[in-house]
Amino acid sequence: MGCIVRRTPLPGPRSQEILTRKQAVVPNALSVHLPAVVESAEGALLHDVDGNTFIDMSGGIGCLNVGHGNPAVAAAMRAQIERSWHTDFTVVPYESYVALAERLVRLVPGDWPKKAAFFNSGAEAVENAIKFARAFTGRSAVIAFSGGFHGRTLLALSLTSKTHPYKAGFGPFAPEVYRAPYPDPYRAPAGLGAQAWGEACAAELARMFTTHVAAEAVAALIIEPVQGEAGFIVPPAGFLQAVQAICREHGIVMIADEVQTGFARTGRFFACEHSGVAPDLTVVAKSMAAGMPLSGVIGRAEILDAPGDSAIGGTYVGNPVACAAALAVIDEIERLGLVRRAEAIGTRLRGRLVQLQERHAAIGDVRGLGAMLALELVTDRRSRAPARELTTRALQRAMDLGAVFLRAGLHGNVIRMLVPLVISDAQLDEAMDVLDAALTSAARP
Ligand code: PMP
Repeated sequence: MGCIVRRTPLPGPRSQEILTRKQAVVPNALSVHLPAVVESAEGALLHDVDGNTFIDMSGGIGCLNVGHGNPAVAAAMRAQIERSWHTDFTVVPYESYVALAERLVRLVPGDWPKKAAFFNSGAEAVENAIKFARAFTGRSAVIAFSGGFHGRTLLALSLTSKTHPYKAGFGPFAPEVYRAPYPDPYRAPAGLGAQAWGEACAAELARMFTTHVAAEAVAALIIEPVQGEAGFIVPPAGFLQAVQAICREHGIVMIADEVQTGFARTGRFFACEHSGVAPDLTVVAKSMAAGMPLSGVIGRAEILDAPGDSAIGGTYVGNPVACAAALAVIDEIERLGLVRRAEAIGTRLRGRLVQLQERHAAIGDVRGLGAMLALELVTDRRSRAPARELTTRALQRAMDLGAVFLRAGLHGNVIRMLVPLVISDAQLDEAMDVLDAALTSAARP
């Protein structure tokens, strides 16, 4: 007996009624992926208002590494709410903010004095990381990578590298953003191996100081150690180290955006640990507080101390309930051994995905790091042309069959997995059976 329950076609009648009301009062841009309204959730399961149960392979876009409804996180939040839930930390401080900073400065790579500041969203933390870097260096330019995603506010959106649906129509963008190539091993130029492609991209980054922007004008470089929205692109070995060396040579603050990769997802607490790179600043959000609105910038104390008094802040930043949740998340990751579990999930999932690749001609690539895994679908394996419509059908069929997978990729042809790390092996296997059936069915439109 599996755990998926299918009572109604999607959407069920109660979901349909709510979605009709939504259409009347919520902007069309906020379209929904799963046509079902959630009633409750626990672990890796979602229950909708019509009695259907789904396996959640999306984890609220990677926010639920400790699982939906995690009891320890819920208890920590409840206890904090009983005491107080808002003062504004810079008006009246509270201990949980300080305690969380103490935990994170120890967890983030780098053998030097560190500090941490908290915000509400990934985008807000990205923007503040740039503020810290600009204040520290006295420079203004920022380098970001092709395919990168860093959020949707003006500077974060300027750093983001995907036109539709994110940027188109929303300019003008923030100035002084320069774009470097990110090596996607699956789409390396013909005849170039992954390693050589990584080296060519690092060389192009160094060349940008001649062709695009003077090195002494660059405050920061921001990079995802594994690109998330772009389709779980793992750069070739040595690339992150080469980027770090270039930053160090020119006094550029290296910012790792670990919003999607952090908090055990890749089989390390932070993805940078795989390469031994210790960035100057690390940006975190998502699974940090199990979906509560909390994000952070953690890094070298002298960089975080650069802005003047009251130059950094915000009414809600580092909310005490969210800080209590984050402290419980870190405890749960340690108590449940989720870093090692992510590695085991990755091994199990990858094994199943490679089997699927043997039977489904559309699967061009299986890739990822730890439990951050994805499939890239193509029209044929030689041309590697993106199969976007097929991906849409496969995602829909999987939802119809009871498992929620997410889309990613610059061409919208990647199926990605950000499953809660508390998922059982039986649930993982059931979700893989669904994906198998969905790919079979999607191939016959
Ligand atoms: N950086 C990365 C790597 C992300 O994946 C995201 C969100 N998908 C963001 C930043 C932006 O985070 P938020 O949506 O919380 O602003």
